Formats: sequence, C-alpha cells, structure tokens
Amino acid sequence: MVSTRHARPLVPPAPILSAASFRRAAAARVPTLLDAGPARLVTSGRVAIALALREMGVGPGHEVLVPAWHSPSMIPPVLWRGATPVFYRLRADATLDLDDLAARIGPATRAVMVTHYFGFPQAVEAVRALCDARGVQLLEDCAHAFIGSYRGKPIGATGDYAIGSSMKFFPIYEGGALVSSRHSLDRITLQPAGAGFEAKVAFNSLENGFVYGRLPAARAALWLPLRLKDTLRDMAKRRRPAAAPAPALAPASSDSSFDLDPAWIDKRSSWFSRTLLRLIAPGRIAALRRANYARLDAALRGLPGVRPLYPVLPDGVCPWVYPLLADDPERLYRRVQEAGVPVTRFGHPLWEGVDEDVCANSVRLSRHVLSFPCHQELREEELSWLIDALGKALQA
Ligand SMILES: *Cc1c(COP(=O)(O)O)cnc(C)c1O
Repeated sequence: MVSTRHARPLVPPAPILSAASFRRAAAARVPTLLDAGPARLVTSGRVAIALALREMGVGPGHEVLVPAWHSPSMIPPVLWRGATPVFYRLRADATLDLDDLAARIGPATRAVMVTHYFGFPQAVEAVRALCDARGVQLLEDCAHAFIGSYRGKPIGATGDYAIGSSMKFFPIYEGGALVSSRHSLDRITLQPAGAGFEAKVAFNSLENGFVYGRLPAARAALWLPLRLKDTLRDMAKRRRPAAAPAPALAPASSDSSFDLDPAWIDKRSSWFSRTLLRLIAPGRIAALRRANYARLDAALRGLPGVRPLYPVLPDGVCPWVYPLLADDPERLYRRVQEAGVPVTRFGHPLWEGVDEDVCANSVRLSRHVLSFPCHQELREEELSWLIDALGKALQA
C-alpha cells in the first residue's frame, strides 16, 4: 500500500479519478472528438478501429495504409479483417510523408490511417483530397487527440471515420469511441458486456483514485465494497473448475497489452465510462494539460542531451503526453525508471518488419522519443518533482 509520507511522490502515469476532470470553472468550450459526429462508445480505441474497418468493407485481399511509427495496437484490427497493413513513411518531425503515402496506394488499398501523434494534428485536408481522388477511405486515429480542434473543426471531422481512446485522456478504466461525420453508424448495434464488467470498471476506476491519494472521503465509504470485490473474486476462482478458464471481465486493452480480443468488438462501453464521458469538462482538461505541457517544455528544453519533439504547442491542441527526443534514450529511460518517473515509449517496438528500409525516421522516433505525463490530475508538487528528477537523470 502506498503511504502518503512517502519521500517521493508517486506520480500517476495516466489520468485518475479526482476533481480535476470535472470542475466546470468558467472553462472555454473546447471541442472533443464526440463533436465531430455521431458516435459509438466501445471498450477501446482498437475496437473502434476494427469497427471502422468493418464499416469500410475492408476484408481479405485488401490493404490498409498505416504510418510506419504506430502503436502496435493499430495492427491487430487490420489483421482481424483479413487485410494486410502497408506502412507509409513519416518525416523527421513525425508529420506524414504525403508523397510516400500517395505512392503506396494501389488497387488493393481500401483505407488510410492517419495518427495525430500526441494530440498534434496532421495536415488531414491534403490526405482527404488524396483519398477522394484515389477512391479510398480515411480513418483518423485520434487516440492521442480526444480533445482538440484543427482549422476551426473538431478533431476527427475530416476522416470518413475517426477513433479515440478514452483511457488516455480521462480517469476511465476502459473506453473507445468510433465517430463519423460522413457515414451512418446505424448498422452497428452494441451489446452490454455484463454486470461483472460494469462492476469491475467502476471499482477499478475508483481504486486508482485511492492509490494515488485522491478521493480520500470516498475511500472510507468504499473500503468495504472493495474488500468485498476481492473476496468475491477469490470465491469465484475457487469454485471454477481449473479446466475452464474464466472469461475476461474486461478487455486486455485495459491491462496495457496490444492485442485485439474479438469478443469485445460489439460490446458497449460501461455505464460508468459513458457517464464520466458526459460529465467531463474538456475546456478544463485542455487548459490543465496545456499548462502542464508548457511547464515541462520550459523546464526540459534547455537540458543537455534532449530536445522537445515539437517546437511549439499550437492553439487547439490538447496534448496526450509530453514527448522528448533523447540523444541517449536507453540511458535516460533506465535512469528515469530507477527514479520512479512514469515514462512512455510510444511506438516502441515497431511492428515486425518495420525497419530503416521502410522508414528511417520512424525507427529514429520509435527509439529516441520518451514521453512524460502532462495530464490534468498532476499536482504541482508532482510536476516539480518530475522536472527535478528528469534534470538529475540527465546529469552526467
Ligand atoms: C493507444 C492507441 C490506440 C489504441 O487505443 P486503445 O484504447 O489502447 O485500444 C490506437 N492508436 C494509437 C496511436 C494509440 O496510441
């Protein structure tokens, strides 16, 4: 159990339940992915990708263009459709290489996936025009961009479909969104995933809040139900014959794997997650994330051996994490891990076969970008500790 007198603060790597996501203190109206069009709320971003590809009619023999720097979770949905991922190049600054993308569109290409890394929008209008000219569909991967706008439109409004990942932005244990500003989603009917799932999501979201010292009052009230949950789970385990493995109560995506379990594809997101999505204050979350990002940027950009991936934070961007390019990423990664700093290596490792010949920039980005939390629930003392720890980790 985590003591509150712990010498170094335990920094939550992702948003957890606290007031920061909800207080509606005069925050400006900021668009989210859900403003881009009608939505289906599912249990993960990868499930939303799978549904989008199915809606597009992607099947065996088809090709789907995927950026060479990617989350490994973007590929299993393509394989689930029986299609082949074809990787296109990025430029050194993580923007897409439109010429390379165009060159890779062939007769078998059905869809193009574009990822707005870290919440920074790609130039989707040019890709839109290319897709229209070549008769292929565009899927905007907004897994890093649940909140934000691009050229006056909500993020995700340009593609045929767009997907989001709730866990990356909100204190939610599971969730993904499929949105379309162009096509009806009426063919998609989602089933409830069951009472066990509903309970697990609610408990896990609350439990996370307790571990990081948030929700102290609610903690006392929920101590008993949480113990009860553990007891029930142990009882269920004991009663089940060893030969029959229990069906998973929640998708593996919630436990940070990259697989796609087809059993979750037509399941609706939990009541808890859907309710939280309705209650969140995107303007407040965006303002807090931008302020934390700016703090990290100001403190880290002068340190030796690192550079920010993005020179500026444009208006309308709500960042997922703070990405830093490190000269010696292995050493920095080791040192920050030893110090207890939460660190993400997005797109590391790459899908098998994606190497320097496919895209040298992607290999470089995969290897050199380390990311640090800037989410809305970070506290001032956690942020300054994180900055201090990074400074120490970078000293010779
Ligand atoms: C996380 C992620 C996904 C998948 O989202 P999940 O909710 O984890 O399934 C898709 N694309 C990118 C770029 C991601 O980082």
